[in-house]
Amino acid sequence: MNRLSATIVVLALALGCTPREPVPLLQSGHLRGGNVLLVTIDTLRRDRLGAYGNGRGLTPTLDRLASSGVRYTHAYSHAPMTLPAHTSILTGRTPRTHGVHANGSFRLDEGIPTLATVLKRSGYRTGAFVGAFVLDARFGLSRGFDEYDDRYPHETDAATFRVTDRRAAEVVKAAGDWILRPDTGSDPPASPSPPSLARDPASSGGPVRPASAKATAVRRSFSEGGSAEGAKAGGPWFAWVHLFDPHTPYDAPAAYRAGRSPYDAEVAYTDAMLGQLLDRLGAAHALDHTVIIATADHGESLGDHGETTHGLFAYDSTLAVPLIVSGATVGRGIVDVPVAHDDLLPTILELVGVAAPANLDGQSVVRPPAADRALYFEALEANLTRAWAPLTGVVAGDWKYIDLPLPEIYDLRTDPGEERNIVERENVRRDTLQRALARLVASGRGVAAPAGVDDDVAARLRALGYTAASQAPPRQTYGAADDPKRLVALNERFNWALEAFNAGRPAEALSGFLALVRERPDFITARTSAATVLMTGNRAADAIALLRDRPASQAAAPEILAKLGAALRGAGDLKGAATALERSRAAGNQNPEIFNDLGVAYAQLGRVGEARAMFHELLGRDPNAAGTWNNLGLVELSAHQLDAAAD
Ligand SMILES: [Zn+2]
Repeated sequence: MNRLSATIVVLALALGCTPREPVPLLQSGHLRGGNVLLVTIDTLRRDRLGAYGNGRGLTPTLDRLASSGVRYTHAYSHAPMTLPAHTSILTGRTPRTHGVHANGSFRLDEGIPTLATVLKRSGYRTGAFVGAFVLDARFGLSRGFDEYDDRYPHETDAATFRVTDRRAAEVVKAAGDWILRPDTGSDPPASPSPPSLARDPASSGGPVRPASAKATAVRRSFSEGGSAEGAKAGGPWFAWVHLFDPHTPYDAPAAYRAGRSPYDAEVAYTDAMLGQLLDRLGAAHALDHTVIIATADHGESLGDHGETTHGLFAYDSTLAVPLIVSGATVGRGIVDVPVAHDDLLPTILELVGVAAPANLDGQSVVRPPAADRALYFEALEANLTRAWAPLTGVVAGDWKYIDLPLPEIYDLRTDPGEERNIVERENVRRDTLQRALARLVASGRGVAAPAGVDDDVAARLRALGYTAASQAPPRQTYGAADDPKRLVALNERFNWALEAFNAGRPAEALSGFLALVRERPDFITARTSAATVLMTGNRAADAIALLRDRPASQAAAPEILAKLGAALRGAGDLKGAATALERSRAAGNQNPEIFNDLGVAYAQLGRVGEARAMFHELLGRDPNAAGTWNNLGLVELSAHQLDAAAD
């Protein structure tokens, strides 16, 4: 008997049923027409939840949800990185098929349906409340949301000190306001009757208690034909609430800090804020016909395997996530079969009785999936930003296989800390898992080059401790020296330098970046980061020298050429700047910043026709860019003056 059926039997016995009639924890369409509350807590380690065995009492809200719903003991993210992980949650696909592999430099393809686009089409009103710039609307997750609230502070004084996240208290307040819609009233109607929230009451397990005035509004909109506007005003809702606080920097409000590590304090604070939201919604009966899904996008290493934060490795400290499904008609129990983020979309849609899009990677786990299903994961940021070996792998049953120059296999059942790599003695299993991984990779669409990052995006990501993916040409072969296990110390030092820069200690940051460049001359982001520090200190000539000193293999690296162009312009060498920027563009850099810089350089050089072409190209992409219109106007003005002078 596998672990899942054992669980179900225990549950069935507890409920007084015979073991032959297991009680399903989730049932298809049981929440037909119900609301969906998706809570993603950023950087939340699974082992911090009481429900997962933590004894420090950090997460009473999540523990309460777990005890009233289904807890998945082995749930996995597909990538320990915010944007790729959330994209999987919202699309039902792994990064291999949704194509988003890193923060900042990828954008979800317009053609891929999301939970929001599907539910909106089914009459839901849809709202997202995100806590950090990494999930800004520009990265493509906003499609399908009536309300995409990414209102963290956008402007601060210095380009490198941007505040790009907001506390959970603000996010849950905005989400609660939107869900309860004070404008339509959240008090129960005077003489409630069973609403037709469930479009097929017979299959929804009996009449639904009236939730609020909202429910009345729903009935009204459906009975009046369910116009799009009516549905928008009061239909069932889908809210996605993203709480960023456990992410670095760990700076929870003082009331949560006493006696706790800074990270634990953030976890406790975030859980308390989620508790406030659920209490508020519960008091307004807004959760009466609602499925609540709570998970993390990924965990945090906190020193495990030598990594402080997340993104480099894919051990369970960051890859395993808590996952809880709770709500009206959801059973109580524990599921041990491995599941993954790409299962969430099809599962949620099946619960609320909405057809799922075709060609998903994940599957609905309303019926338990096979225990030995191979689940894909990756951690490609270091490959994309530093040209280190790409990390991919699979979890299958109790086994994890990590495909690197120095491959790894762990038996997660006997070695949950992944401390004993048994790849040598598991040759046969290695072949099997490698084949499973190859199949999953082949079914995807390959890793496209990142689109390029403008300086504004790069600065905001830096403020969150990320570097945006460069456009380093991917190498074809990697050896042991490129294995992230061998490079984790460099990774730590890079992050430390980044932090020093953000904290206003440019000298320390510079010496940190330069030391990395000396040690590993092909570490592109260390080199360009050092150049950035030099340029902010008005040392353009030193930045130029450093960028020109790159290894021959990176002579055509678009990111280095782009930075060189910026430095040359800063030094007043417009012709040199234009040449470097042209080469960067020719090497595939599609970054809007390149076009703008080139346009400005051409204009300053009196090359009016080329300047005009650059700005028109930019307006073709973003017709509302005021700065571009302004630049184009200046170009036309100077062209007119040149003409007039010629006459
Ligand atoms: Zn994250």
